[in-house]
Amino acid sequence: MRYTVSFNFHEKPPIEIITPADNAGIEVGQAAFALQRLDCMDVKSVSEFLKAFRSTQLILNGKRVGGTALLSILQLEQADMQAFIETVLLVPFSWRLNTVLPSRRLAVFHHKTPRLERIHRHFQGIALRPVAATRTEIFTALKWGDLRESVLSEQSENETQPEEKPKPNRSERIIIEWENAWKNRESQPDRFNSALAEYNSLTWRYETDNLPAIAWLELYLLAEHNIKVKQCRKCKGYFVPWPANVQSCGKCRQDTTRQALHQANLPEDKKALVKKKNAQFQKEKRKKLKVLKLREEGKSIQEIAKIIGIGEWRVKELIALEKKER
Ligand SMILES: [Zn+2]
Repeated sequence: MRYTVSFNFHEKPPIEIITPADNAGIEVGQAAFALQRLDCMDVKSVSEFLKAFRSTQLILNGKRVGGTALLSILQLEQADMQAFIETVLLVPFSWRLNTVLPSRRLAVFHHKTPRLERIHRHFQGIALRPVAATRTEIFTALKWGDLRESVLSEQSENETQPEEKPKPNRSERIIIEWENAWKNRESQPDRFNSALAEYNSLTWRYETDNLPAIAWLELYLLAEHNIKVKQCRKCKGYFVPWPANVQSCGKCRQDTTRQALHQANLPEDKKALVKKKNAQFQKEKRKKLKVLKLREEGKSIQEIAKIIGIGEWRVKELIALEKKER
């Protein structure tokens, strides 16, 4: 299996994307932490790990490894990676130099490990390519822009304010700006160049078919960027804490997040407000589906506006939103 891995350490929290991978998130260190969690004595656990990365065997330095050799190799990698995490990345940290940054602690690991050459051989199979990727903050802006806009317009409808054309939000401005720059790329090359520079940024894309190499790459990059790792209080798995003071991993925190706890403690009237907002969001979604269905049936914008009882600009907006999401 040929893997592609890219990182964005400018994000807070930083993100990592591995393809192909099933059920993987965008957490940095995902391959390394998944490898740490697996039980090498349990064939099922190992096959689930490989399946998550759409693989049936490991390819190390061009050679296929399967069966019992695979189990013992994974065990060795696991031990070496655990030593790396404990020596370089983990907080709290066992020696006196508690405040030393991960990048400075690397020398200690290199000094201690008897298998440095073996670890470094993994890096021979990684190809590196510079790519211009769309900046993640642009995606984030688009996502939040749509959500905010739909809640705001729902509110204004409920208050039955006179209909007026809404100002384009940030995400719409980005799209309009980009589409115009693209349309006029030949007549206005400078404008197009500045749009490219505005929305894209340099990333290194790593390619390899060696899965443990991805895990080692993650660990070394975490160290380079001085990102510390914690051990989850509940499941004992490793994770990158965000914000820095959290004590358990994302999975274990899902039901005990501050937001969920906060919501449970809310007074009844505030709870009702949260419920109302959620209902509004759902109502918006249903409205959009209805608009699209009518549109598919060949109804005009005016007809749809009349049937649903909303302004024509809202109909156009809902259709535009759908196009954007595709
Ligand atoms: Zn956990």
